[in-house]
Amino acid sequence: MEFDPDRVRDNIRRAETSDLLDRVTVYRADLEPEALTLMMEELRARKITPEQIVLHEQSRQEALTDDSGLVRACSFCRNPAIAEGKGWFRLFRLVPLVPRTLYFCSEHVPAEKT
Ligand SMILES: [Zn+2]
Repeated sequence: MEFDPDRVRDNIRRAETSDLLDRVTVYRADLEPEALTLMMEELRARKITPEQIVLHEQSRQEALTDDSGLVRACSFCRNPAIAEGKGWFRLFRLVPLVPRTLYFCSEHVPAEKT
């Protein structure tokens, strides 16, 4: 896919700060270098300091990763997953399209797992 700076910039401007922080830290390996630069500029414009970015990254270190080292995203939102839900799919058996292995972020983790 071709890199479209205008579209990317627009997308970045509308993103939540916490989403941008995730993308420049735990999802950094997925990013185009140009997109990473634009996101860092946007965070700077939002008065986010490098220290805050480092703190954010540290708070995400419990995140699960796949075999290639990329952070897994929650099955319900874009946050990094901290728990895996093998077997939990039975809770959702009324929803047949849900994958059998579910990933949960800190917000979506079932109460029994914490
Ligand atoms: Zn989630």
